Amino acid sequence: MSFSTTPSHKEASARAALYHMLMTMRPHGTKATATFCKHWIDPLGCQIDAAGNRFLRIGDAPVMFSSHVDTVHSQGGGQRIYDDNGIICLTPGKANCLGADDTAGVWLMREMAINKVPGLYVFHQGEECGGVGSRWIAANKRDMVKEMSACIAFDRRGTTSIITEQMCGRCCSDVFGKSLIEALGLEGMKLDDTGSFTDSANYTRIIPECTNVSSGYYDEHTKKECLDTDHLFTLREAMLTFDHSKLVIVRDPSKVESRYIPWRDWDENAYYQSQYGTSMGGAGDYTYSRSLRRSKANITIVPKSIHDYTDSEWEQREQADALVDFVTIYPTLVSHFLMQHGYIVEDLEEYKDECEQAAAMDGVYEKEDDSEN
Ligand SMILES: [Zn+2]
Repeated sequence: MSFSTTPSHKEASARAALYHMLMTMRPHGTKATATFCKHWIDPLGCQIDAAGNRFLRIGDAPVMFSSHVDTVHSQGGGQRIYDDNGIICLTPGKANCLGADDTAGVWLMREMAINKVPGLYVFHQGEECGGVGSRWIAANKRDMVKEMSACIAFDRRGTTSIITEQMCGRCCSDVFGKSLIEALGLEGMKLDDTGSFTDSANYTRIIPECTNVSSGYYDEHTKKECLDTDHLFTLREAMLTFDHSKLVIVRDPSKVESRYIPWRDWDENAYYQSQYGTSMGGAGDYTYSRSLRRSKANITIVPKSIHDYTDSEWEQREQADALVDFVTIYPTLVSHFLMQHGYIVEDLEEYKDECEQAAAMDGVYEKEDDSEN
């Protein structure tokens, strides 16, 4: 059956809801996000915590469902979208992304709640700002979280991933992942250890099995972002009859298998290889020195003679130096962090242009040449 061409009445209203939800831009902490929650989530009968997260308990299944209400839009308000034969895209305009990350997950959980699928539903605030909502819950609602055996987030790009590792390290066992694939009964789903970050990562030390499931969006955080609604509606069908008793729980949350290697031993090249399957090429040795940093940096802040620095300016300068150090040693990690927070190369190029223009204006910035040493 094609949902795009022959929708039943229920599917048609579900699709209409999806369109309406995707037509809102919702940066964290804005009125647009509050209005969105009030309209689409609160009527489900949710409770609201001090961080603005929405909770809903249906039955007593020890499974948390997770999504986030914020998007990486640069401003709140409305936007236009179009549906190209089941693929929803952004109509070119001022919006910087579609925001199917994570409107897809929120919509799916709303559909599940309407259809009374048992579980603890958590619609998080501020995932795109470093998971502020889930961090708050992990710190302040530990007793509630502790009762869960599994946390299933719907906040992953593509159509095939069951995430077993996030940037925090392993988040669920392969045994659990396979049992989830079987419970979903969807073709093409497979274990994926290349997850970045979503809210479920903040529960890995409390909940045994935490994962993230592909919700059908692509190119998130960019203007090219689109949403495969065939996948999302197929996932909806699977979740409406989801049987949590088929999940196999084996991981011990007190034993954290971290992907991070301690600071001094970090091998950026190995990490890059694990992410992209190729070597960075000659970048394995990260013996670091201040002179290396100076020679690599293209833009240096030269505000005034160092003798004129106040204490707080020194502190700022030291902070800036520490950041340059970090970026030099961990470029891949930092690029993932920037992506996670909605930045792409164009944003940085724009910022670089601004800095260079400022340099031309008042000499605050000085461009260094790229030559080594
Ligand atoms: Zn997301």
